Amino acid sequence: MYGDQCTTGVAVGEDRAEGVKRRGLLVGVGATVAAGITALAFREELGRLWWQIPGVDKQRTEGEVDQPGARWVAASAANLRIADRPADYEIDKVVIHVTQGSYASAIRVFRNPAHAAATHYVIRARDGEITQMARELDVAFHAGNRSYNESSVGIEHEGFVDRPSSFTKVMYEASARLTADICARYEIPIDREHIIGHNEVPGATHTDPGPHWDWDRYMELVRRAANRPKATTAAER
Ligand SMILES: [Zn+2]
Repeated sequence: MYGDQCTTGVAVGEDRAEGVKRRGLLVGVGATVAAGITALAFREELGRLWWQIPGVDKQRTEGEVDQPGARWVAASAANLRIADRPADYEIDKVVIHVTQGSYASAIRVFRNPAHAAATHYVIRARDGEITQMARELDVAFHAGNRSYNESSVGIEHEGFVDRPSSFTKVMYEASARLTADICARYEIPIDREHIIGHNEVPGATHTDPGPHWDWDRYMELVRRAANRPKATTAAER
């Protein structure tokens, strides 16, 4: 069963008011650009520029991932809020979770619109496979705290808080590389102020990743991963 799982926290009342801010911004831009040009030209101009305007979603391609090598399985849109990070919200934290259930069940519940939560990533214990379910651009509901959701990337690890054997070497290493890369993307310091457990989020009612998550080992792996030679990106090949 998937009872009493991390499920990443309650997202009730997460949203609202965001759209108002964005619409206000768009109207302002529209008024400036539209002055003196035709409506058609305005539309073409906006079409070219829309992704550069803070508060408007960047162009995105179905299946695109932020982490090279991750596979993409989309979480339900109900479990996240479309955003434009880091333009609209600074990303300065990584939040570590443990699923309290299987990899497959975590992915299944994050695809369920009734679940009201999802993380950006889920990592499999057996081989360190990483599934990305929400773009880092977007605010996933995982921390149970609105401002922490807005400013963090959430990673679920397959396992149980009371079963240290579920935290495999390969999962620690895969997670450390992912966290190191997230920190590099957003210039997040690699320390325990910025890489935190779900239990350390203010107001958290969840205990994951629990007492058996080896923070010293994990932080050492993240530091090591941050210093590794950079993999060649597709653009450089
Ligand atoms: Zn959690």
